[in-house]
Amino acid sequence: MTKKKELTEVFIYPDWCKGCGICVAFCPSQVLELGPDGKARVIKGKECVNCGFCEYHCPDFAIVVKTKPLLKNYANHAQQGQKAQPQK
Ligand code: SF4
Ligand code: SF4
Repeated sequence: MTKKKELTEVFIYPDWCKGCGICVAFCPSQVLELGPDGKARVIKGKECVNCGFCEYHCPDFAIVVKTKPLLKNYANHAQQGQKAQPQK
């Protein structure tokens, strides 16, 4: 399982969330909070370490944590790295 920050996206389905607060209370990175509507929402998505707690323990299956495509990381690496070598 990936443990690096900024490699995940956290999705919450508000229609399924009953606002129990389990995800908010136990997220190790304080990624989530209960909004004014009483439903969970993402406030610091970049801090997610992909521990999976929220997704596995939400009693209503209202959270999904997805790993971002690695292509973004390759693109960042390419920008910081050397220019591509011409093909022989
Ligand atoms: S654990 Fe699930 S139902 Fe409870 S607040 Fe979080 S998203 Fe909503
Ligand atoms: S996967 Fe872990 S770190 Fe990410 S939002 Fe859920 S509980 Fe927090």
